[in-house]
Amino acid sequence: MIQTEPKADILDPRVLEDVAAGGLRITGEQALRLYHEMPLQELGAWADARSRELHGEHIRTYVIDRNINYTDICISACKFCAFFKAPEEEGGYLLSHDELARKIEETLELGGTQILLQGGLHPDKPLEFYEEMLRFIKGFGIHIHGFSPPEVCHFTKLSGLPVAEVLSRLRAAGLDSIPGGGAEILCDRVRSETAPRKCSADEWIEVMREAHHQGMRTTATMMFGHIETMAERFEHLDRVRRLQDETSGFTAFIPWPFQPANTVLSHLPAATAVEYLRMLALSRIFLDNVPNIQASWVTQGGKIAQLALFFGANDFGSTMIEENVVAAAGVGFRLSEREIRQLVGEAGFEPRQRTMDYTLVPERL
Ligand code: SF4
Repeated sequence: MIQTEPKADILDPRVLEDVAAGGLRITGEQALRLYHEMPLQELGAWADARSRELHGEHIRTYVIDRNINYTDICISACKFCAFFKAPEEEGGYLLSHDELARKIEETLELGGTQILLQGGLHPDKPLEFYEEMLRFIKGFGIHIHGFSPPEVCHFTKLSGLPVAEVLSRLRAAGLDSIPGGGAEILCDRVRSETAPRKCSADEWIEVMREAHHQGMRTTATMMFGHIETMAERFEHLDRVRRLQDETSGFTAFIPWPFQPANTVLSHLPAATAVEYLRMLALSRIFLDNVPNIQASWVTQGGKIAQLALFFGANDFGSTMIEENVVAAAGVGFRLSEREIRQLVGEAGFEPRQRTMDYTLVPERL
C-alpha cells in the first residue's frame, strides 16, 4: 500500500479520492487533521465511499450470536468496567455446564451460528477447566469465538505455558476464533492508568499475531472516549493496521465509546453520537487493510447504528441474544433480528446474516 506523502494536503478532495479508492494510505497526523478539521458529513461521505468501494451498494450484514460471559469474577479491576466482581466480593458467578447448555440451545433455536465466549480473569481455574468448557460447547456443533487476549495472557501466567502452546491447546479443544476485546486503547500509558493488571499493548498484539499464525481469524476493537488523547487513538489504529499488514488475520474492526456509568471513571462524560460517528468514519479511512467495520448498536442504539452504515460501517454486528458487560454500565439497548433487518432494510440495503468470517448464511426469514 502506498503511503500518502506526509506533506500531501489531506483535505484536498483529489487526495481523498485516491484514499477512498484504496490507492493511498493516510498517516496518523493526517487522520488527526481530518478528525479536527473536516466537517462531519464530509468525513462520513469519504468513509462511505470507501465502504461502498469495498462492499458495493447492496448487502449489509449482521451475525446471530450470544455473548456468554462464563464468569464475572475477575482479578483485574479495570477502572472502566462495571461488570466484574472481585474474588473476595459476594455474588460472583461461574456458569455450570447446564447453564451453558441452556444458553447454547436457545441460541441455536434462534438461528445463531456462534457463541461469543468471554469472562473475567478468574484467580485460580487451570487451563484444563477452559479446555473442558470448550469441548463441552463444541459438542453442540457451534462456532466458538472466544477468549480475548487478556484472558489468553491470564491463562499463560497461571499455567506457566507460552502463548503459542495455550492457543494451540485451546484450539485443539474447540476454539475457532478470537474476539478483539480487551484492546481498549493499545497504548501502555492508558493501560497502566486504567487497567494495570491487564495485558500490555505488546502482549495483546502478540496473542493476535500468534493466533493468526496458527490459522485463527480474529477481530479487533477499540474502546475510546476515556483518558486517552486523540494521538493515542491513532497509535491504536496504527498497531492494528501494522499487524494486519503482516498477517491479514483480522476480519473486522469494532470501535465503540466508553460507557462511564457504574465505573470508577463515572465522572467522565460519555462520548456524543457525533464523536462516535467521526471515530467510526476515521477507522474506516485509516484501516485500509481491514475489510469489515462494525456499527455498535449496543452502545449507540439502533438509530445511530443505522446512520453508521453511511459513516463507514458495513456490518450491524451481532443480535446479542444476551449481553451483560455494557448492560452493567446502565446501557439497555436491545434489538431483535427482525428489528436489525428492518433498520438495515430501511437504510436502503439488503440485510444478510453472516458467519464470523463474513460468509453469507442462506436466508431463513
Ligand atoms: S474489563 Fe474484563 S478484565 Fe477488566 S475488570 Fe472487567 S471483566 Fe475483568
